[in-house]
Amino acid sequence: MGHPLFVPRQPLYPKGRPAREVHRLDAEGGRRRRQAGRRVRQRPPCAHTGAGVEGGLDNAASALDELDIPDGVTVLVESDAGSGTKLGGEFEHLAEVLDRSSQDLEICVDTAHAFAAGYDLSTVEGVNETVSEFDEVVGLDKLACIHLNDSKHDCGTNKDEHAHVGEGEIGVEGMQTILTHEALADVPFVLETPTEDGKSFEWNIERARELAGQERSD
Ligand SMILES: [Zn+2]
Repeated sequence: MGHPLFVPRQPLYPKGRPAREVHRLDAEGGRRRRQAGRRVRQRPPCAHTGAGVEGGLDNAASALDELDIPDGVTVLVESDAGSGTKLGGEFEHLAEVLDRSSQDLEICVDTAHAFAAGYDLSTVEGVNETVSEFDEVVGLDKLACIHLNDSKHDCGTNKDEHAHVGEGEIGVEGMQTILTHEALADVPFVLETPTEDGKSFEWNIERARELAGQERSD
């Protein structure tokens, strides 16, 4: 099997935008992308902007139901840092969206987002508990991708700012535990680390390999 191609998409419901307008924009965007012949994976979820959690989850699910998903493309719903009225911080929200949508969706967990949303990924115990909780609430069979980012802010702050692998509040112990966790061995990791302080993606890839205990393959 070849490597999967991941293509990020903006949330379906940017904060403050009337749901109907965003629905329309999203449907048009989908058509344009299909015409261009590109393979897409998308990333909701959304902010409920006053619709309440229940209404917001329904809106997210019905917006996903409207997507005409081409063969060979899987739409992933990404976990969120969960600030304000934004949904998707709690694993329960992700499970509900998957449940309420008639599409065959899977999940992308962003480690920085999950940490900001209150899942403590900075210790061995914290990572183990979070993985177990995800398995219980959503199911590890639905985990298609991990965005591997450290976090500039502490656990539970709802602040979404990515840091270099091992250099943030998740730190070396957390990152190493995630990278070597048995239950995550077959899940692809994608970096969304910053390119600041003279540290490139290459630096972060090397760091991730080092923490995972892997040698360079070339
Ligand atoms: Zn992400």
